[in-house]
Amino acid sequence: MTDSNLNPEAMFTIGYGLYVITSRKDGRINGQISNALMQVTDTPPRLAAAVNKNALTHEFINHSGVFAVNVLSESAPMSLIRLFGFRSGRETEKFSQVSYEIGPTGCPIVTDHTIACMEARVETKLESGSHTVFIGQVTAARIIGAGKPMTYAYYREILRGKTPPTAPTYRASVAVKPPKKIKETSEMGKYVCDVCGWVYDPELGDPENGAKPGTAFEDLPADWVCPECGAGKDEFSPVE
Ligand code: FE
Repeated sequence: MTDSNLNPEAMFTIGYGLYVITSRKDGRINGQISNALMQVTDTPPRLAAAVNKNALTHEFINHSGVFAVNVLSESAPMSLIRLFGFRSGRETEKFSQVSYEIGPTGCPIVTDHTIACMEARVETKLESGSHTVFIGQVTAARIIGAGKPMTYAYYREILRGKTPPTAPTYRASVAVKPPKKIKETSEMGKYVCDVCGWVYDPELGDPENGAKPGTAFEDLPADWVCPECGAGKDEFSPVE
């Protein structure tokens, strides 16, 4: 949004939940984090989910015509959100790392840190730029566990979570992108986040999170996390 009449802060006042949307294709299963989900009708119940066209889950939903919505609990750890929100199913077998069941539609249902799930059969697809809005009739729904549903605001404010580049609410203009070519300018090395590509530069440090400029990566506290995606120190690699 570059138009001066469009203030992105206004867009950020819209309320959302946080979900894992899953699907299947030819015996494979995948899922991804989404905040872009809403119920659109009650009789019968229908859900609308906006999914990025580049996502593997998009390919799976397009192919199978079914998807499942897993409602995350506030207890969901950042590791779970990172797994489904910042990694692609093309490189990571996401469901080898979580507990799940297969629901009546064949879609996987995440059973840890979720409070409910709904499965839907796609009736309508709306093309909308980078995303497709899949509208599906709910064919199964159940409560999985106790807890409060995680809202997008809780994720951003309490967990200090970031927005993946594939999300409808991603703001490319404020995203931190790693430089294409990184020059060594000091004795201390730079480190790149293997999850999101954010680069830690010891000359700059991470002042917002307590690391003064001039702090070597090795000297960051053990509980320091990537300010972009929340990955731990062990998920960083030295920049060659
Ligand atoms: Fe990161």
